[in-house]
Amino acid sequence: MRDCIFCKIVNKQIPSKIIYEDEIAVAFEDVNPQAPVHALIIPKKHIPTLADFSEEDYGIIPHIFKIANRIAKEKGIAERGYRIVNNCNAESGQTVFHIHFHLLGGRQMHWPPG
Ligand code: 5GP
Ligand code: ZN
Repeated sequence: MRDCIFCKIVNKQIPSKIIYEDEIAVAFEDVNPQAPVHALIIPKKHIPTLADFSEEDYGIIPHIFKIANRIAKEKGIAERGYRIVNNCNAESGQTVFHIHFHLLGGRQMHWPPG
């Protein structure tokens, strides 16, 4: 989608530190990391939010989680612990409207989230 920053990352129109890529998804380092490990995992398909998923899109979710687990193992946080976050729409704090899952780890997390 034109003017979508994450589509531009998918299409390599803007630079990013890509950690993993396949035909369905891309994972890259968050430009403003909130933890020692902060990756964003996104489908290549432009879907604005989780609430916009259609029936055919749900297969993306297990794929994303598989990638998250793989990255967590590679980054050495699988045993220590990590968090996967999806912000959906404005009240959750979503700022980029191309669905993405945050993989956060490498420090003690707190609950409840802000
Ligand atoms: P949200 O608040 O929508 O859940 O998260 C958006 C995330 O995207 C933020 O953590 C922000 O730092 C990250 N982000 C925004 N623009 C860019 C960018 O151009 N490159 C990268 N790598 N991350 C970005
Ligand atoms: Zn997009």
